[in-house]
Amino acid sequence: MHTKRFYDQMKRQVLIVDDEIVNRKILGSVLEDEYELLFAGDGEEALKVIEEYKDNLSIVLLDFMMPKINGFEVIKTMKADPVLTRIPIIVLTSDKSTEIDSLKLGASDFITKPYDSPEVIKARVKRLIELSEDRLIIRSTEKDELTGLYSKTFFYEYAGVLDKYEQSEDMDAVVIDIDHFHLINEIFGRSFGDTVLKKVASIIKGYSEDLSGIAGRGDADVFYLYVKHQKDYKELVARIKDEMKEAYQTNNIRARVGVCEKSSEVTNVEQLFDRAKLAGNTIRGTFQKNIAFFDEELKAESFFNEQLIHDIYEGFNQKQFMPYFQPKYDVTGEKPVLKGAEALIRWKHPEYGIMSPGSFVDLFEENGLIQMVDNYLWGEAAAQLKEWKKKYSQPFAISVNVSRIDIYDPEIENKLLKLVESNGLDVKDFHIEITESAYADNPDHMIEKVERLRKKGFIVEMDDFGAGYSALNMIASMPIDILKLDMQFVRTMFENERNMRMVEIIMDIAKLLKVPVVVEGVETKEQLDCLVGMGCQMIQGYYFSKPVSAEEFEKFFES
Ligand code: C2E
Ligand code: CA
Ligand code: CA
Repeated sequence: MHTKRFYDQMKRQVLIVDDEIVNRKILGSVLEDEYELLFAGDGEEALKVIEEYKDNLSIVLLDFMMPKINGFEVIKTMKADPVLTRIPIIVLTSDKSTEIDSLKLGASDFITKPYDSPEVIKARVKRLIELSEDRLIIRSTEKDELTGLYSKTFFYEYAGVLDKYEQSEDMDAVVIDIDHFHLINEIFGRSFGDTVLKKVASIIKGYSEDLSGIAGRGDADVFYLYVKHQKDYKELVARIKDEMKEAYQTNNIRARVGVCEKSSEVTNVEQLFDRAKLAGNTIRGTFQKNIAFFDEELKAESFFNEQLIHDIYEGFNQKQFMPYFQPKYDVTGEKPVLKGAEALIRWKHPEYGIMSPGSFVDLFEENGLIQMVDNYLWGEAAAQLKEWKKKYSQPFAISVNVSRIDIYDPEIENKLLKLVESNGLDVKDFHIEITESAYADNPDHMIEKVERLRKKGFIVEMDDFGAGYSALNMIASMPIDILKLDMQFVRTMFENERNMRMVEIIMDIAKLLKVPVVVEGVETKEQLDCLVGMGCQMIQGYYFSKPVSAEEFEKFFES
C-alpha cells in the first residue's frame, strides 16, 4: 500500500494497561523510545484515559485479569463505541482461552506473558498501528456511497494490506454478481434497484464479518469478498436468496458466485479477483449452477490468454498477422458474379499455427487490444483493394469488421476515411461490418456513430443479424445499408418449418426496409437455391470458398 504517512515523524500514543507495576515497567522500557506512553493500573482507569485521549490514541495494550473492571469489559465497552472501536487492542495474556475470547470480541492481537522478546513486541505494536491507520484512511475516503462498502480500487488495496500484514495463506477471492439485475432496474425502477443493492450489500457485509474478511462493491451489481478460505459458498447464496425472498417475495433475485483460492503463483490481489470473475462468468445464464471455482481448466485457459496478450506485440513486429479474404457473390443473375470480399484476420502464431479469430477476438476486445488488430487489418485491406482495383477492372468492394470497441474511438470515421483517401479508393467500395449485438449495447451512441460513418459515404452492413435479439421496431429506426443474416439461420433452416419461416420473415422485413441481404455460412447448393428463391442478393460461404490468402484469392477474379 502506497498511502503516504503524513505524520510519520510524530510519536504515536500507546496506552499500557496492567495492574502489576512490573509488567507496566517492562513494556514501558521496550516501547518508550518510539512511543509516547500512557499508563493505567486497572480497567476503570483505562477507560478514563481512553476517553480523554481517544482522538490521538494509537493503540491499547490491555491486560485481561484486573480488579474492578477487567480487560474483557474494557474491550466490550470500546467495541460498542463508534469512535473507540477504531483503536486497536493487543491483549496481554498467559492463557490460551482468553486469547481466543478476546479475538472474538474484537481485539486485534495478543502478546503472551512471560513476554516475548522486545523485538517481537515492537513489531506487533508497529504493525497494528499501521494497519489501523490504513484502515482509517480508507474508511474516511473510499466508501461506496450507496452501500457503504469499499469501492473497488480501495477494496483491492485493502485486501493487499491484509495480505501484507496478516500473512494469512488460505484466503479466497470471491466475486458476487446479481443475476438479471438490469431487469430489476428496468421493471421496478432505479430507486427500487438501489434498495435491493443496499440489502444485498448488508448481507454480504455481514457474511464478510463472520469470516473476518472484507467486502467491497464493484460496478453496479458486482460485489467482492476477501475472506478466509471456505469449502463452499452455498450458505452465502442461500442467505441472499432467503433474505430477498423474505423482503421482496421473489425467487428471481439470485447471486452468482465466482471463487479463486489464493495461491503462491498469483502475486497480486487484482489478478486473484480477475480469476474469480472468470470463474463466475462460466456459469452466467445457467440455472442449475450458481457457484464456480477457478479450476485447472480455467487456469489453462487464462494462461493461454495471458500468453496471447504477451505475444501480440511480437506478432506485429514479426508480421504474423495477415488478412484472409472470403468472396461474396451476387446471385441475382443467371450466374453468380464476384462482387466483393470480407477481410478476416488470421494470426500465424509460431506455436499454435494459423489461428482463427475465434480464439482471440473476444479476449482482445476485453482489453482493448482489438483496436491494434483492427487498425492493422483495415490498412492491409485498403492496400489490397487498391492493388486489385488496378489489376482487375471490375466492380468490387471489400468489407472489414469494426469491433464494438472501435466504435468508442472518437477518431474512427476520420481514420477510416484517411485510409480510403490515401489509397485512392472510392469510399463506397470499403464496407464496414458491425455486429448486431453492438447495437444492443448502447443503441443511441451506436446510431449516432453509424450515421456519421454513412455521412462520410461508407456503406454499413449489420453483421450477425438475427442473433442479437434486436426488437423489430428498433431495426426499423436503425441506420443500415445491408443486412448480413446470421449463420445459424442457414444452418438450421432445413430442420423444420418454423426455422424456414424465420428466414422468410427476415427476408420480407429486409424487403420492406429496402435493404439488400447478404447470407453467410452457405455451404450447399440446396441452401443456395432456396435462398435465391427467397430473394437473397448476395452469398458468402464455404459453398463458394473458405477465407483464403490474398494470393489465393486472385483465382476468383480470373475465373
Ligand atoms: P464474422 O464477421 O461473422 O465472420 C464470418 C465467419 O464465418 C468467418 O470466421 C468465416 O470464416 C466463417 N464462415 C464463412 N462462411 C462459412 C461457412 O460456410 N461455414 C462455416 N462454418 N463458417 C463460415 P472467422 O474468419 O473465423 O471469423 C470469426 C469472427 O471473428 C468473425 O465473424 C468476426 O466477428 C471476427 N473477426 C474476424 N476478423 C476480424 C477482424 O479483423 N476484426 C474484428 N474485430 N473481428 C474479426
Ligand atoms: Ca463480419
Ligand atoms: Ca457474421
